[in-house]
Amino acid sequence: PSKEHEQLRRKIENDAREFWYYMGSHLKQLKTSARNGINIEDSINNLLEDGEGYKRTIMNDLKSLSVEGRAGAWREKEGIALTELVQKRLRYLQNPQDCSKALKVVCNLHKGCGYGCQLHHVTYCLMVAYATGRTLILDSVGWRYAKDGWETVFRPLSNTCTDKSGTSSHHWGVDSVINNVQVVELPIIESLHPRPDCLPLSIPADLAPRLMRLHGDPSVWWIGQFVKYLTRPQPHLKDDIERVKQKLDFGNPIVGCHVRRTDKLAAEASYHSIDEYMIHIEEYYNQLEMREPVEKRRVYLASDDPTVLPDARQKYPQYTFISDVEISKSASVGSRYTDASLRGVIIDIHFLSLSDYLVCTFSSQVCRVAYELMQTMHGDASQFFYSLDDIYYYGGQNAHNMVAREKHTPRNKDEIPLEINDLVGIAGNHWNGYSKGNNKRLGKTGLFPSYKVENNLTIAKLPIYAEADN
Ligand code: GDP
Repeated sequence: PSKEHEQLRRKIENDAREFWYYMGSHLKQLKTSARNGINIEDSINNLLEDGEGYKRTIMNDLKSLSVEGRAGAWREKEGIALTELVQKRLRYLQNPQDCSKALKVVCNLHKGCGYGCQLHHVTYCLMVAYATGRTLILDSVGWRYAKDGWETVFRPLSNTCTDKSGTSSHHWGVDSVINNVQVVELPIIESLHPRPDCLPLSIPADLAPRLMRLHGDPSVWWIGQFVKYLTRPQPHLKDDIERVKQKLDFGNPIVGCHVRRTDKLAAEASYHSIDEYMIHIEEYYNQLEMREPVEKRRVYLASDDPTVLPDARQKYPQYTFISDVEISKSASVGSRYTDASLRGVIIDIHFLSLSDYLVCTFSSQVCRVAYELMQTMHGDASQFFYSLDDIYYYGGQNAHNMVAREKHTPRNKDEIPLEINDLVGIAGNHWNGYSKGNNKRLGKTGLFPSYKVENNLTIAKLPIYAEADN
């Protein structure tokens, strides 16, 4: 390590210690004040402000540390190399020389849900295709968003093989049943039995060491690669995106903000005011300003609720909000689609994914897709988000476990105990230092401090596609 690296590392060490000296001592003072009936509100406000200051400084120094020396350049380069490798494998898989003999999986796009959910459906199909060495054939004619199908907006999944017929076909099943079948039909992920190891959130064994070195959340990176391949735009969509980019004067720095409301609030998610999103956007920019001057605080705002944009502009005049909403009104390109909302959601996801930071609710598939795509454009963008509700997940995923790194003794009936190496099925992060989960050893569900556990990755043995290199 360089001198700068070592100095930075020691500064972080020092500041973390100072942070606790400060907190510990001021909390003790507060206790004394409270005991003596002195009003402690002002002291608490100072504590909140200073605590955030400490966090900002430590986070910034960690950021500098992560790009110190050649680390930043290495990360970008490794990200690009891995992306090229995986995309090459997918091209190889999807373009067999003889389609009449190729092994295939067939998926149809008629899952009854929104665009993000349907895209995730196809993504899971392509993941199974990759794991089984079969070409994915997508049956998308009559798609609710474009009656002529997928290729209305995206490039075909294959240039050589789009015919779903074969000499034999069967529904997904155990290996002994499907091994000698040419065409395997996949149901929606929720109905898939037996459940193969390749389903999210697993990562491929042959790339695992590189992915785990590169990325803070390798599962999301891996999923992002499939989404990237699937959503390669047709030329007219590419032009449309470029036009929007020019018109909006889309530039960095920019925070992508997705506000999901309307039908989602009926059962699946809670209402959040624009202020709840803005707290995190503000904090992003405050932190950034410690490293560089910020001329304009830009926010790309996407929402299914048209009242959000005027509301945000009125309440936060010091921010520059840009949005596709104003452009799509005048866009004549909508005529290509059965449902004009397709263009809107594709454009919104695209610009959200191009942002430097995402603030949204991960309960929405729209934002999760944007986050997945974001990973394909940076070495490691795993930390470039704030979710107001869920942690990242993939609908229909296999069990997502954490592993305990420290012991925990419950303080009240809401908490669960942890022993080192206990597996905990994760249910959510409460973003207050505590997460909720199910301790598999005890079969008990409850809260525990988030810092005491670590992600427990599932590593799946998948084909390595050595032939793709030729
Ligand atoms: P989820 O319901 O939010 O998990 O995501 P889905 O993609 O499955 O369904 C939501 C649908 O609402 C999308 O397909 C869009 O049609 C629409 N939608 C939600 N958020 C946005 C947004 O920010 N912009 C646009 N244009 N459409 C959105």
